Amino acid sequence: MDKAIVTVTGGTGYIASWIVHDLLQEGYDVRMTVRDKSKTDKYAHLLEIENNSSGKLSIYEADLNEEGSFDEAISGAHIVMHTASPFFLDDKDNPKKKLVDPAVNGTKNVLRAVNKAETVRRVVLTSSLAAIYGDNQDMSMNGHNALTEEIWNTTSSLDHNAYSFSKTEAEKAAWTMAKEQSRWSLVTIHPGFVLGPSLTTRKDSTSIETLLRLLHGDLSMGAPKLEFIFSDVRDVARGHLLAAFTHQAKGRYIIANESGNLLDVSKIIEEEYPSEYKLPKRFVAKWLMWLLAPTIGFTRTFVKKNVGYPLACDHSKSVAELNMEYRPLEKTILNHVKQLRQDELI
Ligand code: NAP
Repeated sequence: MDKAIVTVTGGTGYIASWIVHDLLQEGYDVRMTVRDKSKTDKYAHLLEIENNSSGKLSIYEADLNEEGSFDEAISGAHIVMHTASPFFLDDKDNPKKKLVDPAVNGTKNVLRAVNKAETVRRVVLTSSLAAIYGDNQDMSMNGHNALTEEIWNTTSSLDHNAYSFSKTEAEKAAWTMAKEQSRWSLVTIHPGFVLGPSLTTRKDSTSIETLLRLLHGDLSMGAPKLEFIFSDVRDVARGHLLAAFTHQAKGRYIIANESGNLLDVSKIIEEEYPSEYKLPKRFVAKWLMWLLAPTIGFTRTFVKKNVGYPLACDHSKSVAELNMEYRPLEKTILNHVKQLRQDELI
């Protein structure tokens, strides 16, 4: 599909920027939506990439909360990649309005625009591992050794892990709408916790904030024994393109690689930059985490259900069906730290 017109929602984002980058480099005609077109600093990096690519970039304004907002950007497109969604973990203040409504209603808005545009054949939705599991304990308590595409998050709610709930409900809404028609097919992408070099100097993306907090010494007294499954942002972008352009791609794809915790990440950084950062060297005991939870932004329920549980994922479907190749965690972390240093953010 050499001449495909691809619409990417939320192009200013950490992940979407890499998707737009890859599409432009491969010569596609990319339509990108942003919330506020006048904030050119949020997408100046992509205009620069366009200048050095064979692809063409057009900017459209759209908001997840506004009905009909995506119609113009999607009309005439062949592929839609829906990545825009609020991503933050501090979910105490009105999670319905700030997280769940924009995620779910926004997905429905985008797909209603897709239904109106006769040209669209494929929609790639950026879902998450958060739509596969809610708490770390879910995997072992349900008798699984690894997370797979077959599993759904059944434990998150508005009151507990609202971000994960927003991703689960948005994905469910997307599958419902996909099954109501036969013109376009839906493929969903499930990254873990995404790290890796950013194309911008923005610091307000949760992934980037987390690594910056670690490097700034916020966890120097100790890190929670909390497992993550990491994804490299460049692999995630690649996964979106493969899902869009592989005709037989079908269903859900986990695009994530290694599991590990913040001590594993710290060790990788310490070996490359000895004693340059105040990195954690030990875990905080679970009972202490539980005690301190409310003062450090966690709930005690979260600590109870997440700290100390193993996590793993099986990404073999993406390798077999999309030919995905994954970067090792070490490369992801070191490339990310290098970018933060070059951009003088640390
Ligand atoms: P990000 O950098 O915070 O980007 C989020 C994007 O969503 C921004 O472009 C933002 O636009 C847009 N957005 C938020 N609310 C909006 C609204 N009401 N209307 C229109 N656009 C809105 O996040 P990211 O890490 O790249 O995440 C992108 C996607 O990947 C999300 O769907 C997220 O759930 C998913 N994901 C992320 C991770 C991760 O670890 N980063 C893991 C799994 C899945 P503005 O620039 O205008 O704010």
